[in-house]
Amino acid sequence: MKKEDCIFCKIANGEIPSKTLYEDEKFRVILDLGPAAKGHALILPKDHFDNLYELSDETGAGVMKLARKMATVMTEKLACDGFNLVQNNGEVAGQTVFHFHMHLIPRYEGDGQRIKIGWEPGKPDQEELEEIRKMITG
Ligand code: 5GP
Ligand code: ZN
Repeated sequence: MKKEDCIFCKIANGEIPSKTLYEDEKFRVILDLGPAAKGHALILPKDHFDNLYELSDETGAGVMKLARKMATVMTEKLACDGFNLVQNNGEVAGQTVFHFHMHLIPRYEGDGQRIKIGWEPGKPDQEELEEIRKMITG
């Protein structure tokens, strides 16, 4: 299923041209236009899902399989030193395009990029951790 006026639906399905690294029946992998590092790419499912919550299990499994494959090839070809997989859901989490996508970000020694989700570690005590554990599992 595609969504009207969704730019990633149009890119994924070839209506808008992109620098494509890989394509099959279900996915297109493209170079990001605002890269965090050389080779920053995005996995786009050809079907529209707003975000992780809406993703089908089958597509989710396919995304991870493809991410592993792409990361392996890209690391070899680009000679990067490490790799981030980043996936944002919701505005508060940094999502700006509301068609599910997985970022593939090659990392290089001294690339000067901060990982986007840097955080100040909290200092929860055991009681707080237990409360949260119960919220999630209860
Ligand atoms: P988000 O912030 O939603 O996780 O990531 C959106 C990403 O899509 C950003 O990294 C941005 O640079 C990229 N992007 C936005 N519009 C386009 C576009 O039209 N073409 C390509 N190739 N990348 C895009
Ligand atoms: Zn879409």
